[in-house]
This record gives sequence, C-alpha cells and structure tokens, in this order.
Amino acid sequence: MINTQFHIDPPANEPIREYRPGSDETTRLQQELERMASETVEIPCVVGGRPVETGIIKEWTAPHDHSLTLCRYHAATPQVVEDAVASCTEAWKEWSETPIQVRVAIFDRAAELLSGEWRDRVNASTMLGQSKTCFQSEVDAACELIDFWRFNNYFAQEVVYADQPESAPGVKNYVDHRPLEGFVYAVTPFNFTSIAGNLCCAPALMGNVSVWKPSHSSVFSNYYLMRILQEAGLPDGVINFIPGPSSEVTRILLGNRDFAGLHFTGSTDVFRELWAGISGNLANYRGYPRIVGETGGKDFIFAHPSAYVGALATAALRGAFEYQGQKCSAASRMYVPRSLWPELKEMLIEQMRSIAMGDIRDFKNFIGAVINESAYDRICGYIEHARGVSGAEVVQGGECSGDQGWFVQPTLIECEDPRTRTMEEEIFGPVLSVHVYEDSRIEETLDLCDTTSPYALTGAVFGQDRVAVELCSSRLRHCAGNFYINDKPTGAVVGQQPFGGARASGTDDKAGSALNLQRWVAPRTVKENFSPPTEYRYPHMA
Ligand code: NAD
Repeated sequence: MINTQFHIDPPANEPIREYRPGSDETTRLQQELERMASETVEIPCVVGGRPVETGIIKEWTAPHDHSLTLCRYHAATPQVVEDAVASCTEAWKEWSETPIQVRVAIFDRAAELLSGEWRDRVNASTMLGQSKTCFQSEVDAACELIDFWRFNNYFAQEVVYADQPESAPGVKNYVDHRPLEGFVYAVTPFNFTSIAGNLCCAPALMGNVSVWKPSHSSVFSNYYLMRILQEAGLPDGVINFIPGPSSEVTRILLGNRDFAGLHFTGSTDVFRELWAGISGNLANYRGYPRIVGETGGKDFIFAHPSAYVGALATAALRGAFEYQGQKCSAASRMYVPRSLWPELKEMLIEQMRSIAMGDIRDFKNFIGAVINESAYDRICGYIEHARGVSGAEVVQGGECSGDQGWFVQPTLIECEDPRTRTMEEEIFGPVLSVHVYEDSRIEETLDLCDTTSPYALTGAVFGQDRVAVELCSSRLRHCAGNFYINDKPTGAVVGQQPFGGARASGTDDKAGSALNLQRWVAPRTVKENFSPPTEYRYPHMA
C-alpha cells in the first residue's frame, strides 16, 4: 500500500559560483577549458547502456572559433533507433516497478556528481560547444540542472505520497501513480544544457523510459550528462542517447505503437510538425500520447511612465543580450513612454558600446557567438531588413562578422511602426526592438503588446506606481506564462518560478514542478473495502 505521509523538506537551490579573477574555481575551470579545447573527442550513441559507433560521423566546432573542432559524433541509423526502442521496452519491465525511493536516489546522486567532480567538465563543454560565458554556463549547465534533479525528486514524492484521496470509514483509497505504457521521446534544444537533461530525466523519474535525441549543436555537452546518469546508477536502457537526423529519427519513433509521450523544447514550427505527426498516427498507438512542449517566444518589457530608468536599462541589457539573446525568455521587444525614452536611449547606447564580445575563454567577455551559420544568417537578415524598411531604425550595433566565429553585435532598433517584423517575430539573437509610445496612449499600447505576437512566454512590466502596474499586469494576463514586475523577463529559478508559456509558446506544463511530473503518470485509483457487504438489498427496501 502507498504511504500517504509526506514530510520531506524542499531542497535548497544550488549556490552559483561567481568565478572571480584569480579564484581557485576560476583556475580549475580555465584548466578544464584548455584541456577540452586541445582535443577532439569521439562521441557514440548510447543504447541499452552500451556505446554504439555507427560510423556516420558529424562534427561540431565552437561557435566562436571555426578552427576549434570539439567533437566527432556517431549519428544514429534507423537500426540504432529501432534498437533504442527495443532497449526501452526491455528496461521498462523492471524500471516501471522500481520503487520511487530508488529512482530518487539515482537522480540525487546525479545531482551530487554534477555539483562536484563533473561540474567543470559539464561547464567547460557547454561554454565551448554552445558559446556560453562562465556565468551563463554555471547558471544553466550546473545550477539549473542540479536544481531540476533535486526539486523534481521532491515534487515527485509529493505527487506520489501527498496527492492522495480521502478514505471513508471501512475503506482505503489510494492512487497508484503508474508510468506510461511505452516510451517517451525527448527532443531537446541547443540553448540550455539543463533543459536537455530535464526532458529525458523528468519522465524517467516517474518510472518511464525514454529515447533522447539531443540537438546537433549541443551533443558535446549533452553526452557528458549521459555519462553522469550512467555513473549515478541509472539502469541500462532507461534513457537511450541517440543524436541523429531529426526527421528520420522522428519518423521511426512516432510510427511505433509503443510511443507514449513527447517531451519537447524547441521552436514552434517543429513542435507543430511533431504534433501533426502524432495526430496522423493516433489510431496506431496503444494509448493517447502525452504531448508536452515548450516553444518560441517574443518576450516583452513594458515600461510605465513611473518606471525607474536605471532599472529598465539594466533589465533590457541583461534580458536581451545575455547568451546573445538565445534564450526563449530573452527580451526582444520593448514599449517605452516618450517621457522616458531620451534618457533610456542614451543610457542603453552608452552601455551597449561597452559590451565586450568574443571568445568565452576570456572571462572578461559579456557575450560570445551565436550558435551556428544559419542562426547567424537569420539574425543578420533581420538587422538588414530593419535597415531597409521604413518605420524602423538601427540606433546601435548591427555589425555582423562571421570570419572567426558567428559574432553578432548587440543591436537596438527603434521602431516607429509597432508592427514591423522585428517587433513581431522571434529572432533568437541579440536584437532588441523598441517602440516609443505617447504617455497618454498607455491603454492602446497595452492592447498592442497583447496582440502583436502569437507567443505568450515571458514578459515584464516596470513602474513605481503600484496601482498602475497592477492594471498593466491584469491587461497583460494572458501574454506571458512567466510575468515579472520590475525585473528582467529571463532567469527563472527552479522551485521559485516554475517555467512555461501558453498560446504559441507551448503547453504551459511548467518545467521543474509537480505539474510537469503529473503529465508522465497514468494514475490508477485503488479502492479496498475492509468489510465488503454481504447483502444486496439496501435499507430503503426493508
Ligand atoms: P529547434 O526547433 O531547431 O530544435 C529543437 C530540437 O528539435 C532539436 O533537437 C532538433 O534537432 C529537433 N528538430 C529540428 N527539426 C526537427 C524535425 N523536423 N523533426 C523532429 N525534430 C526536429 O530549436 P533550437 O534552435 O534547438 O532552440 C531554439 C528554439 O527553442 C527557440 O524557438 C526557443 O524559443 C525555443 N526554446 C523554448 C524554451 C521554452 O522553455 N519555451 C526553452 C528553450 C528554447
């Protein structure tokens, strides 16, 4: 019988290292960066716990240094994909019956390993492979993933033990939180190592098995997560790591009768394509697959005339340009009242001129390169468009250089036309578009903010007038799944601000919370009668 007592203390968030110049932690991380940059590693698929070399080799070079080839990985073949499913099916037999305490112990151990001996390696691979600064990598690849593992353990026990029904006298009711029958397909994005780890592990924690297809652009760091999970004692086949051609892998997996769920983070178009593929195969599945997807954003900062300009400027700089704007939560459009704009514009331009961009091995840099050539072309294309279209003006930045690495200067675009493309579409780069509105037209501008983009991921409102801020917050209620008051729209912390958006931004299942974990169970309600009736007639029939 299930124990319905739940007295476990929530974990604390992993402390963030600061990497001050000359500190021991900085020296160790720099040594690891040097070591990793001096070799090209070979990465296999991992199926049923075994490395699989297919001979179909793909390479990954550092986004900020075209001469630095970091890894050569073996891409999955159709046979490897089939083997991964077979391995899931085999592993499911035991794993689906493995007690929650054992599953929790494995992910706790993974968190310990990442917090300690694996931290530098995972951070260095994320920095080199995804062009993150030490701080951006530390908050993502180390702290956020450790937090996902530890908090999910806490929330999973809450789901299993505390989420239980009442029992009438003489009866015991309980809910058995079963895993899904089949495998979960985890499709992960390049931009957060922590998300990659979470998408395959959250279902596994709830007793599921998964096939994990990492992004081509983050195989390098993601492989080390697979190694940590193995070292932590995850049984073979519970998670199978198969980098490979997206469409081919997806076609095979979605065509399988045992496909039980999709855990996706990435762009809106790809998610829609996957959803359509699932719908097309629906009649062939054993059950109705769970679909959880976190997708694109066009995240905003809305400034009320009472906003403090210094705080706005910092929120815009950090919110829009950290990690080169390649965060789903990055601020990419801003609405500013005319009364504040001259001072804010001057402050932004001055500070943007001071931003250091370059190789992330130089810890003085604030930003690195964008992820790859197609991202570079797309972002530079948007800047070119803004230069050429009426109603928009590039007021700072806008330079692109692809010689050494894929570098795009942080760019500020003033948009007289609030419907210009850079105000509406997800750019996923270091580009911030600003629309200046008349102070008297705040109501219309709130409507504009609400209706300008199909997304609803993150947003922020700034203002000192708390009553006015409340009005903005309520008018923008459906525009963001994560809403901030007087803070930048990025940087959600696991356990504090559960993350996810609605509208075209996803299914809003809040990564790193009980809401997400509940999607990966098929509850079975059990009623036990301690004294079953022995007479079919009811009292009213006497
Ligand atoms: P992407 O959609 O290009 O790729 C995501 C994953 O899907 C990768 O593993 C990729 O290989 C795979 N993929 C690509 N095409 C596919 C296809 N046709 N079939 C099956 N799989 C396919 O996204 P990305 O460039 O890795 O990440 C950036 C996007 O992710 C942005 O749109 C960003 O907003 C979004 N994102 C959202 C969140 C969130 O929580 N909402 C978090 C991070 C990133």
